[in-house]
Amino acid sequence: MYCGIDVGGTSIKAGLVDDGGHIVAYKSIPVEIRHDDFPRYLAKTMAEAVGELLDGCHLSFSDLPYVGAGFPGPVDNKKGLFLFAPNMPIKEAPIRAYFLEYCPLPLRMGNDANCAALGEFRAGTGKDYNSLVLLTLGTGVGTGIILDGKMWTGCNQAGAEGGHISLNIGGLVCGCGRRGCLEAYASASGLIRLTIDKMLTYKDSLLWKAAENSLDKVTGKTVFQAVRLGDERAREVLDEYLTYLGEGLLNIINLLQPDVIVLGGGISNADDDLFLEPLREKIANRDLAKYSLPKTKVVKATLGNDAGLIGAAFLDA
Ligand SMILES: [Zn+2]
Repeated sequence: MYCGIDVGGTSIKAGLVDDGGHIVAYKSIPVEIRHDDFPRYLAKTMAEAVGELLDGCHLSFSDLPYVGAGFPGPVDNKKGLFLFAPNMPIKEAPIRAYFLEYCPLPLRMGNDANCAALGEFRAGTGKDYNSLVLLTLGTGVGTGIILDGKMWTGCNQAGAEGGHISLNIGGLVCGCGRRGCLEAYASASGLIRLTIDKMLTYKDSLLWKAAENSLDKVTGKTVFQAVRLGDERAREVLDEYLTYLGEGLLNIINLLQPDVIVLGGGISNADDDLFLEPLREKIANRDLAKYSLPKTKVVKATLGNDAGLIGAAFLDA
């Protein structure tokens, strides 16, 4: 039995996971962002989640080899530090040491996007492959890389940030401070921006109908709804979005040639005929290995929001 924790900005999700990567018990505890010793409070809450999970299954700490946790920011798994997070009062926090004060198990630490990739690799759509790149198309573009069965995190454990491959050095400003990053275009936020830009130019577009005539109601789904209504402007937005995403995928394929690229996050839930199929057409035979087989497959993630928790349960020491 293994235990994985997915640390988020609003809750801690913890689960007991069997050898096959199935969640057999689950616990979610709300987290409040507060500034009085947040790191210790976070570690204590994580330990409480583990204790409650074990109690609920009539198990004890000795039934687990370790606890794995994915964090929403870079970590140093060698030193046991949670280095920082955009939305949490965290700076080089010794989470492993704090955790040990409340739970007598070693804590293995990873970045949440990397954990999600490991989860899909061990138990999801990537389980029949040796190498995988996961892109989570959400507010940002989270990525994780598995090469020859091992998570790749780089020389300082903060690599595998495929969302910050630049597509355009004079392009949109990204949250990382550079310009033209894949994340600025291929995230749900990027798609919403493209949608709003089109709506402002074309007041007669059915994008307005799909968004209930309000720019505030534009979501990552709006463009797909308007395409279904037959709107040509929506088709243009979707084509532009998929062009950016496709170029990002080609960069990754040319660099790594993974067996499979797995797409997760809200946008990936769109119908295949509007998302996956045209995306595959965008990249078909445009990589440098176009005359070689096998080709990198592009598929959807299957574990949804559980991928990070499951992957955390299988983190290396
Ligand atoms: Zn960036």
